[in-house]
Amino acid sequence: MQQQPMQQGQRYDAVMAGGGLAGLSLALALRQGLGESARLAVADPAFAAPVSSPPASTDLRASAIAAGARRLFEALGVWERVEAEAQPILAMEITDSKLGDAARPVFLSFDGEVEPGEPFAHMVPNAVLQDAMTELARTRGIDLLPTRIAGFTSGPARTALRFANALAHGAEASASLLAACDGGRSKLRALAGIGVTGWPYEQSAIVMTVGHERAHGGKAIEHFLPAGPFAMLPLTGNRCSIVWTEESGVAARLLALPRVLLQDELEQRFGLGLGDITILDAPKAFPLGFQMARSFVGERLALVGDAAHTIHPIAGQGINMGLRDVAALAEAVTDAARLGLDIGGPDVLERYQRWRRFDTLAMGAATDGLNRLFGMRSDAVRLVRDVGLGLVERMPALKGFFIRDAAGISGKSPRLLRGEAL
Ligand SMILES: Cc1cc2nc3c(=O)[nH]c(=O)nc-3n(C[C@H](O)[C@H](O)[C@H](O)COP(=O)(O)OP(=O)(O)OC[C@H]3O[C@@H](n4cnc5c(N)ncnc54)[C@H](O)[C@@H]3O)c2cc1C
Repeated sequence: MQQQPMQQGQRYDAVMAGGGLAGLSLALALRQGLGESARLAVADPAFAAPVSSPPASTDLRASAIAAGARRLFEALGVWERVEAEAQPILAMEITDSKLGDAARPVFLSFDGEVEPGEPFAHMVPNAVLQDAMTELARTRGIDLLPTRIAGFTSGPARTALRFANALAHGAEASASLLAACDGGRSKLRALAGIGVTGWPYEQSAIVMTVGHERAHGGKAIEHFLPAGPFAMLPLTGNRCSIVWTEESGVAARLLALPRVLLQDELEQRFGLGLGDITILDAPKAFPLGFQMARSFVGERLALVGDAAHTIHPIAGQGINMGLRDVAALAEAVTDAARLGLDIGGPDVLERYQRWRRFDTLAMGAATDGLNRLFGMRSDAVRLVRDVGLGLVERMPALKGFFIRDAAGISGKSPRLLRGEAL
């Protein structure tokens, strides 16, 4: 960690480094838990761009927001701002086939409710969430600092922060708690000397939005193909978000194809069940990997979201795990503040880490295992896994358990995931 003398500057209770979905939702949760008098800031160079309509965020991905995460957004006042753009997932089908197979039989299907009337997930464009939360944070008196955090020094009482560029009130600040929400390549994690365990998948996910003639009826379809999963995730209107996994070299070649040839490749996987299809935006590839921080905490520091863990999008759980971090950390901090304790103290951080580490490792291992299992090309393995899927398909109680688990509302969930205020 960079050594520098303790600086003056703005004194914050908590600073989030990173204004992605994790950093912004943590700031909003802390505003609710700590009240109006708490001094909170989110630092991100992306705040230099103005908020606009249509959304300013350039992220073309959409996320499957599980029921627990939706309850959190509801409790924080975010959901009412994005609901019009949220498509409930009413059913899900999983197939297992080779690319050239004439048919893709369904081996596993889920009906989409965790509780009567409550779908297990909604698809929401990331840009819509991002812009709604940025706007809400502004109205809730959270300082949005248009800068990167370049360095910090943790001390026994506070952490000194150094910004990459000087702001109106200087280039330094201090905080009782620093949350590293700065994504998978977290600089703060590296500065704190926290290592990671992980490996690249040599796979990339091609993401695009597709328009189609017929209604999808809220059904999500995931075709497990030898190169990786091909997911068709329903958006509002006659549109789907596609997450199409390929070996990274193949993904690059596909994206370099003329649009008409890419469309042919797409149709081979998408099928013609929804009529003619059109690619609506500029497809983009995201390299995939697995990564888990060796510790989720340091001195006055908590790692949150992708800074703590990055997983394969095979089960659409990445940001859902990040939002579970948010719910757990905000609750630990709020409970400490109500007892008059130090919100960045070791007891708070340890409680957060205990709450999140096992769940994260379990989900990370499950997604890694699924990706490997479905990546095995032998017919014998395929037969065994299809028998396994068939067994789950015939056991409604087990399916119910999986749905509740994926929705993030099984076990002892933090209050926000149960839809309760902090
Ligand atoms: C193809 C794909 C599909 C996915 N689909 C789903 C899905 O359906 N459901 C789901 O739950 N998850 C999904 N995920 C995962 C999800 O997108 C990520 O988990 C999520 O975006 C991570 O959010 P974050 O806020 O932790 O990090 P990021 O979104 O990476 O945000 C980090 C922010 O930190 C800022 N920053 C970086 N360094 C600094 C610094 N030093 N100081 C200040 N700011 C800094 C950056 O500018 C950035 O804005 C998917 C991922 C991929 C690749």
